[in-house]
Amino acid sequence: MARLIILGSAAALPDACRDNTYMVLEGRESSILIDCGGSPLHKLQVVGVDLDTLDSLIITHHHPDHIYGVPVLLLGLWLYGRQEPFHIFGPRRSVAAITSIMDLLEWRDWAFGGAQDRPCTLPVAFQEVEMREGHRVIESPEFEITTAPVEHSIPTIAVKVMSRETGKAIVYSSDTEPCEALARLAQGVDILIHEGTGDYAGHSTPAQAGAMAKRCGAGKLVLIHFSALGCDLEGLRRAAEAEFNGPVELAEDFAVYPL
Ligand SMILES: [Zn+2]
Ligand SMILES: [Zn+2]
Repeated sequence: MARLIILGSAAALPDACRDNTYMVLEGRESSILIDCGGSPLHKLQVVGVDLDTLDSLIITHHHPDHIYGVPVLLLGLWLYGRQEPFHIFGPRRSVAAITSIMDLLEWRDWAFGGAQDRPCTLPVAFQEVEMREGHRVIESPEFEITTAPVEHSIPTIAVKVMSRETGKAIVYSSDTEPCEALARLAQGVDILIHEGTGDYAGHSTPAQAGAMAKRCGAGKLVLIHFSALGCDLEGLRRAAEAEFNGPVELAEDFAVYPL
């Protein structure tokens, strides 16, 4: 059975127990990272994801807390000797940001066969995600993954993953304030993983995340991307529970959600 594993659950400021928010969808044949915080290849091995199954990364937007692990992910895949194409999906500006960062880091010197002691080439395929509702990013025998643009300070997508085997679906809001496109994407979803950063433009409070879960008829709400440092975590949960009658969890690093 497929599973979605939380690799980090904090907002941009992490603490001792919570890394920045990102996650991996693990199937039998393929695994897909969604955003990319610190030391991704280390964490994938900690949670037991076979690196040979990792074939894609979906970037929701290019704020640093969501993409800073990309350079070391690509360096690690190259050192691992990856031969199969690795796909990176994201909004146009996010793809441009990542390629610019990689160029500044002079990745062509190693990733494209320039290093004399390791002449293999890392095949990376960048693909822009259309900023429209219902864009189908990945269709595989195991998963159907669709996106929708949400309301943040830069172009950002929410991601819906559906298991073809079970029909179950999980939606990850990414960073957003409450918006219609997210409500439509998450309608009737089994698990809504929703940010709860707080009362800031382009973000949501835990109460707004609870209200969104109620509106969508979600089976469960998992709060993520909250400011954990010095925070009343139980207060966050209660604020969401005041709006949503279903189960509410605070995401934990390395929590596993079967799909
Ligand atoms: Zn963020
Ligand atoms: Zn952001």
